[in-house]
Amino acid sequence: MSTTQFSSQSRGQYEARAYSAADPKSQLVPTSIPRRDPGDDDVQIEILFCGICHSDLHQIRNEWSAMPTVYPCVPGHEIVGRVTKVGNAVTKFKPGDLAAVGCLVDSDGECPNCQSGLEQFCPHMTLTYNSSDIHLGGVTYGGYSDSIVVKEHFVLHVPSNMNLAGTAPLLCAGITTYSPMRHWGVTTGKKVGVVGLGGLGHMAVKFAHALGAHVVVFTTSLKKKEDAMTLGADEAVVSQNTDEMNKHVGSFDFIIDTVSAEHDINAYLQLLRPDGNLTLVGAPDKPHAVSALSLLFNRRSLSGSLIGGIAETQEMLEFCSKHNITADVEIIPIQKVNEAYERLSRADVKYRFSIDMSSLKSQ
Ligand code: NAP
Ligand code: ZN
Repeated sequence: MSTTQFSSQSRGQYEARAYSAADPKSQLVPTSIPRRDPGDDDVQIEILFCGICHSDLHQIRNEWSAMPTVYPCVPGHEIVGRVTKVGNAVTKFKPGDLAAVGCLVDSDGECPNCQSGLEQFCPHMTLTYNSSDIHLGGVTYGGYSDSIVVKEHFVLHVPSNMNLAGTAPLLCAGITTYSPMRHWGVTTGKKVGVVGLGGLGHMAVKFAHALGAHVVVFTTSLKKKEDAMTLGADEAVVSQNTDEMNKHVGSFDFIIDTVSAEHDINAYLQLLRPDGNLTLVGAPDKPHAVSALSLLFNRRSLSGSLIGGIAETQEMLEFCSKHNITADVEIIPIQKVNEAYERLSRADVKYRFSIDMSSLKSQ
């Protein structure tokens, strides 16, 4: 792909192909969107694969009251592609390189959070989609598109031994589960619980296993029990089975909760040992009811975690390269995206959809 494929317009922008949703109830349909011409510190990327995160589904359906959706919305923040053009000041990428982009495309670079590699907590960070676009106005558009232009600092290197379709989901599902495990010291000998075996959950199992932990999966889907073991779990529990749950009371060092819908988190808090931590990464809109007693006993803690910083995302990709970890993906053409969303809403995916973006060319 070259920039000349696009009809060039005024104000230094070009048209890219994409899929967008027009309102919370509509299907995603083909469209064209503006992308800025790469500036001095920008990297232009031809998108090869983009994962489908449950956050994409929450966002296009406008399910988060704290983050209202601006329509039309082009989702996608699990992006892998090839560099097509770089600005004059870019030093770490050249045309032809593999590159990846996650949930962030900009931040102020100066605040204490940016300075300590926590760009995801920068008060001025720009999300890959549905954030204000400081370059073109309007909102940012995500990776369900044939190209994207991103500031170099937010572009990741893809190790050469990695399968690209399975690497795309690492940019959100991967870093979101890797980061809290590093933060809470998951290592050999720790007992780790993973609640929900979806896109994030299956990555959490792979990371916890690679870090040497004893991994227990909690699933509502009886049919996923066997998969959990194949993915690296040591035990799998069907969470509706109270007897099975009770066997684990007071025994976990760390539990990561990836569930996308309302559920009882007290049932998992009581499984923590003294000073154990439960980290929420799943983001249902409805507040969780937390019993104080679930926390008081055993001095348990409950926290949250949001993706990860840029340096840590690169570290996660290197970790995956070294340990031969990628997401288990079902590769789909973009034309099947609405069907994929329907299945994702029913927790029916093994374990991430990865869109082959070359399919956009056959519109
Ligand atoms: P996903 O693939 O749909 O997986 C979610 C899993 O949750 C399902 O596979 C299912 O697992 C379980 N689940 C669904 N409905 C449930 C219910 N009613 N009760 C109990 N369990 C249920 O979604 P994902 O892409 O992994 O994302 C999971 C959540 O994380 C979403 O809310 C997403 O927005 C959020 N997220 C947060 C961050 C962050 O930075 N914190 C980043 C990315 C995504 P079982 O079939 O095994 O029960
Ligand atoms: Zn995501």
